[in-house]
Parts: sequence; structure tokens; C-alpha cells
Amino acid sequence: MKKEGTNLLIPGTPALRALRSSKEAFSADPKAYYIETWGCQMNEEDSEKLAGMLEQMGYRPVGHPQKAQCIIFNTCCVRENAELKVYGNLGRLKKLKEEHPQTIIAVCGCMMQQKGVGEAILKRYPYVDIVFGTHHAERFPEYLHRALQSGEQIFEVHEDDGTLSEGVPILRESGLKAYVTIMYGCDNYCSYCVVPYVRGREKSRTSEAILAEIRALVEEGYVEFTLLGQNVNSYGKGLEPYVSFAELLRKVNEVPGVSRIRFMTNHPKDIDEEVIKAMVDCEHITEQIHLPVQSGSSRILARMNRSYTREQYLSLIGRVRSLIPNVAISTDIIVGFPGESEADFQETLSLCEEVGFDAAYTFLYSKRNHTPADRMADQVPEDVKHERFNRLVEVVNRSAAERNAAYLHRVEDILVEGPSKNRPDTLTGRTRSGKTVNFPGDQSLTGTLQPVRITKTNSFSLFGERIEVPAKEA
Ligand code: SF4
Repeated sequence: MKKEGTNLLIPGTPALRALRSSKEAFSADPKAYYIETWGCQMNEEDSEKLAGMLEQMGYRPVGHPQKAQCIIFNTCCVRENAELKVYGNLGRLKKLKEEHPQTIIAVCGCMMQQKGVGEAILKRYPYVDIVFGTHHAERFPEYLHRALQSGEQIFEVHEDDGTLSEGVPILRESGLKAYVTIMYGCDNYCSYCVVPYVRGREKSRTSEAILAEIRALVEEGYVEFTLLGQNVNSYGKGLEPYVSFAELLRKVNEVPGVSRIRFMTNHPKDIDEEVIKAMVDCEHITEQIHLPVQSGSSRILARMNRSYTREQYLSLIGRVRSLIPNVAISTDIIVGFPGESEADFQETLSLCEEVGFDAAYTFLYSKRNHTPADRMADQVPEDVKHERFNRLVEVVNRSAAERNAAYLHRVEDILVEGPSKNRPDTLTGRTRSGKTVNFPGDQSLTGTLQPVRITKTNSFSLFGERIEVPAKEA
């Protein structure tokens, strides 16, 4: 089965190749790096690429910034809390930089794409060496080299020029499950969201590049693939020849060795019948779908610029469930969007009751600069938002518990991911529908599919016991 640890996938970018002989960046002495990542799966994936490039440069990961010669903060601007944490953490690096002036501190990610933020960071924290944005992060080795050579602050924040970089080495941690980005950016301009401003317009990778990456990962032992994009349903725009997302799913399903396929995130207005049919037809596409609803009120959905109504969303759920009866459906919900009245919020609660989500990621609305919602006059007071949030969490936890309880006594095929974090004698893995299952077992089962009878459930996980039959290869 698969080796544990890292996977350096692809041989290198032009920036890496050009710098192979650099003494500073590619030192024979082992150097260490530390990356802290905020935000979504796209940011996680960018950090995997930065780690991949650093490993090719001879750096090794460490778990604490104190021990690193290169520290990277990969930032997120979707929520205010994450931004505040970045500033707090940067402040704490001042002393470290005084004690270790050779340590390079870099800040990157979505926050840097916001007007004036990167410049302000370089000014306010003069010990930060490099600021770079989401576009052309693949040139990080060059930025690092220049910072080491010149000792000057490097500022590399670019506008989206529509290009995509292939061949960036990726360091993946799991060894079993891989996230594969199929497209970047978003064209939707939901009124609360900064993603289209900081990640640019939608750009799809070619299906050939995606399939080549997946085949190479299968060779390495990976069996589960999550296709990633801000809106995977509009995959293919601008590709010549055009390949739809449903066609891409079918192609991935045909790759020998692929065992499970997941994808996220979807936009309810864009997911079409062909995608649902592909889910029905393709044996490796799992019975799981993430459909962010954001609000149960059509009035609020219109203010959010989501381009669907409550009724259309409910009809989509009905269609998915009629074709895939055992599907697990998760969602995102924003509480306290500007103008949300108690009646609007009641509609969100009733939609949750009606759908019965398997999981819901709930967020308090947070003002984001430069977005239309930020300028809306009728902001909801914080205490009202919190009170509604607590009521919503109660409803979604109850429905998650009910959905999970339906698994009781069932036997599920669990892809074993390894020992549970806190209990080395307990294994953790997932059902095809994405539910986490914990059960007693030996670490040697990692990477196999195991039949597990579910014996206990709660809102967040399932528990079970392995049924004694010979292990299947995942
Ligand atoms: S679909 Fe809307 S919420 Fe999602 S990334 Fe695009 S603009 Fe943001």
C-alpha cells in the first residue's frame, strides 16, 4: 500500500529550474520552513504547493516558527477573524526576527490581493521580507532568492492575467486522499464575497492536465480524489475543446486505480442534470454533495446575488434525493446578512428542517471591504446575529444527528485513513458519503477498505466495529 508522508509530484517550475544552482535558496545545509494557513481548501492547496517548492529547495517542515528559516503566512480575507489573527501572529514574530535576522518571513494569500493591504503590512511590520499575492505564487523560489540576496523587502502582488501554471510541485500530506484543483477563480460576484476580487475570473485547467495529475497520484498510491474549485459546476468555460464538468467527472471515473471521487464546491444555480446523472452512473463518484444555500429566504438570496430562490433550491434537493436516495447533503449558511429580518431567518430555519442536512457550516455574516453587502445600510446588530446563530446551530445539529442515526446497524465500507488523533488504538476513516467513522483496529489497516458495522452515532461522527472478513484493497 501507499507509503506514508510526502509526495513530490511534478519536477518543477521555470522559477525552480532557474534557481537550482542558487547557494542561498538551495543550500546543502538542511533548512526548515513553517507554513501557517488560514481559509479554504484552495488556500490549503496553495500551501501544499509552497511546501512542495520549498522541499525541492532542500527545506524540511517544522511545527513551530521558532525553528524555521523560512516562515510563510498564507492568509484569507473571507472572514475578519482570520485577518485579525494574521496581524496578531505577525506582531509576535518581531522578537523572533530580532534574535534570528536571517529568518525570512513571507506573507501571501487572498489578503494580499486587497488594495493597500500588502503595502501596509510591509510598512507596519518592517521585518516582513516578502509579500506576494495569489497570482504567480509559483514564482515563490525566485522571491525567496531575491530576498536572501538583496536583504530588501519584496512586493509581488499582481493582477489576474488569466494564465495558469502547471507543473508546480505539490507536497501532499495524506498519502491516500488528494485534492486536485480543476479551476481557479469565480465569476459569480455574490454580494458578500471577496473571492472574485482576490482570486480573479474563472480559469479551468485542461482535462488532460487534471487526468495526468490524477494518474501520477494513483501511481503513488492515492485512491481518493476531491476535485476542487470555487464553483466546479462552471468548469470548462473557455476551454478549447470544451469539456463540461460532467464529462470531466466521467473521465476521472475511468482512471484505473481511482476508488472514490468527491468534488466541491457547487453552486446551486449551476449544477445541472448531467452532473447528477454522472453521479448516478459512475461507480467511483461518492454519494455526497455540498450545496451551499446561504439563506432560506428568497428575498435575502436576491440581495446576496445568488441567482436562485428558496423554491428552486428545494426542487434541486428533491431531484438529487430522488435519483440518489442515500446521498449525504451538506451546506453553508450565513446568519445575519444585511437586511435579514426575523421572518427571513425563520425561513432559513424552516428550510433546514425541510431538507434535513447531513452537515451545515454556519457563519456569522462578516463585513468585507469592497463588497456590495459591506455598503448595505441595514446591517444586523451583533447580538441579534449571535442569538440567531445559536438557534440555527441547534437545528442543524439536530438534523445531522438524525441523519447519522439512520446509519445505525448498517455495514459501511470505510476507507481507513489511520489512527485517530487522540486514541492510537482507534482507527478513523470515512464512508463513501463522507461520514467520519471511528472503530477499534490496528494501524496496519490504513489505506484499506474495511466493512464496519455502525454501533453508535452522534451529530458529528459514527462509531462502529469491524466485521471480520478479508480486507479489500482500496
Ligand atoms: S460563488 Fe459566490 S460565494 Fe462562492 S466564491 Fe464565487 S462569489 Fe464567492
